[in-house]
Amino acid sequence: MSQDERSAGDLRNTGLSLRHDRTWDYELERIVEAVEERDAEKVGMQFPEGLKRRAPHVTDDLRKLLPDDVRVMISGKPCYGACDLDTYMMRRTDVFVHFGHSPMKDSEKIIYVPLFSNVEVTPIMEDALEELETGDVGLVTTAQHMNKFEEMREWLEERGFTVHTRRGDERLTNEGQVLGCNYASADIDADQVLYVGGGKFHPVGLAMEHPEKNVVIADPVNNVVTIADHEQFMKQRYASVHKAMDAEKWGVIFCTKIGQGRWEQANEIVENNDNAYLITMDEVTPDRLRNFDMDAFVNTGCPRITTDDGPRFHKPMLTPGEYECAVGNKPLDEMEFDTFHGTW
Ligand code: SF4
Repeated sequence: MSQDERSAGDLRNTGLSLRHDRTWDYELERIVEAVEERDAEKVGMQFPEGLKRRAPHVTDDLRKLLPDDVRVMISGKPCYGACDLDTYMMRRTDVFVHFGHSPMKDSEKIIYVPLFSNVEVTPIMEDALEELETGDVGLVTTAQHMNKFEEMREWLEERGFTVHTRRGDERLTNEGQVLGCNYASADIDADQVLYVGGGKFHPVGLAMEHPEKNVVIADPVNNVVTIADHEQFMKQRYASVHKAMDAEKWGVIFCTKIGQGRWEQANEIVENNDNAYLITMDEVTPDRLRNFDMDAFVNTGCPRITTDDGPRFHKPMLTPGEYECAVGNKPLDEMEFDTFHGTW
């Protein structure tokens, strides 16, 4: 999966791809209010990849509402999640707006505009009934459909289901919300989970994290119902671990993005392995690693780069847990899907 597709995990596959032109509520009044309150001179805006093409239009609309001397800037940095704030821009603007994701951490400085999808969810849930057994069911969704979460729950309850939901950990804003790296909201007492949302990025991660559960995908964006199949992904992970077993020189990546740094994991590896080298970087891409003379890499940043983009790197790329198996600290059958907890 390419970086573009990974971002799709957060947006493109969840109805924000603008394949059909839609109107989103960019909450410009909220931004204008903040400018007035803070007497702001500079406004910075950060859009996820799937919405960057909309940035000039949003800028035009905002400029019309603001005094001429307020400068509006658009972040050109890639953005794949609420973990991925343009901190340079954040420090140098009076009002910083992050579109398309729900807050990972409350901050007075940041205005989060989640951009909810306006797609109807109940028609595809109706189709999903065929794949569900009446009784206990877990319910999860992404930030983009969070505005319909109560409607989903009631709809299932009206049809006789006992709906189990929970808020995950502090990395997640809402009850029932999942991220590509965190499925703690699916730690519920049910053997089946209904994921309502676009694409396979999230539910396949969910199935890898909870292989004992049947994960039914009701995708209201592409209008399909499927069952998440994680086996192909697990095979790919085992293959990478096997390839890395002979590695001597390890590159250990510490990601400098605000919400993707896991210092303890990265530090522990280099502390215990003289042949491990700590590499710091923001975007973790195959091109950037190509010139390093390493036998294998461990990525402590976004877990989805490892699982989804792994085959694109010139050397095996492992998660911290997989590294433990590759160097023999843990048996292979204890290999787990890598999840990310906490914020910053
Ligand atoms: S670290 Fe988590 S929230 Fe951030 S881009 Fe990766 S999957 Fe998404």
